[in-house]
Amino acid sequence: MSGMMVRFWGVRGSIASPGPQTSLVGGNTPCVEVLAGDDRFILDAGTGIRKLGEKLASEGALETTLLFSHLHWDHIQGLPFFAPVYDRRARIAIVGPRSAEMTLARALEHQMTAPVFPVRLDDLPAELSFRHVKHGESFVEGGARITAARLHHPGGVLAYRIDFAGASVVYATDTEHRAAPDPALVDLARDADVLVYDAMYTEAEYRGERGPSRLGWGHSTWEAGARVAKEAGARELVLFHHDPTRTDPQVAEIEALARLEHARTVAAREGLVLELAARIVDAA
Ligand SMILES: [Zn+2]
Ligand SMILES: [Zn+2]
Repeated sequence: MSGMMVRFWGVRGSIASPGPQTSLVGGNTPCVEVLAGDDRFILDAGTGIRKLGEKLASEGALETTLLFSHLHWDHIQGLPFFAPVYDRRARIAIVGPRSAEMTLARALEHQMTAPVFPVRLDDLPAELSFRHVKHGESFVEGGARITAARLHHPGGVLAYRIDFAGASVVYATDTEHRAAPDPALVDLARDADVLVYDAMYTEAEYRGERGPSRLGWGHSTWEAGARVAKEAGARELVLFHHDPTRTDPQVAEIEALARLEHARTVAAREGLVLELAARIVDAA
């Protein structure tokens, strides 16, 4: 393909939430596949990565770059169930932040040790490489440029922008907006085609008008997402990291409300595909 393709495999926050109330949106935790020409990027390895792994294994597509926003369970727990890691022909570049406590590799190893998991990271047959990225860092991978920005979340989180052939996607999950749209995110998402945003709460829930206040919990709202999208000039807003208690009709209601603020808004659901046409910039 000449442009970009974004496919959502897991859109739920905090913990997988399968069941009849969530079957349309889906209950798997975060995993987003981005194809940039022939290069494949996977954003986070929540439980949604399991099905993606089955597909890649069946297609023999065994080279990929896995970008971690951070190392909370809902973003890493699918990795031991990602089929390509058990294939010795697979080459997986793992990119993410170094936490205050330990390296990226050590953190992923942590969830693959006895007694909580029977296979060790070191014993995986696939060739894994690790790379730490920091706020403001930008690097080229295949034909795409990846840029990272640090946002507000307990323990830290990185948002990523992927630019390819004049098209761009920003992945900003697990972030608290605080009072104003975060200037670091507004910068990162400037004129992006797609902004994927943490819309875990409504503003009323965030402020504690319904239940406990969620201030300081590290997540944002669809209202803040619409403000960021407008301020950054991002074309399409994707509401992401839905609260595990949010039912399908509630997600649909939030999507409808958000469209009144930012017309091109969609609530992420498993299986959603966005295609972005290439806009090759003339080098001359
Ligand atoms: Zn999360
Ligand atoms: Zn988190």
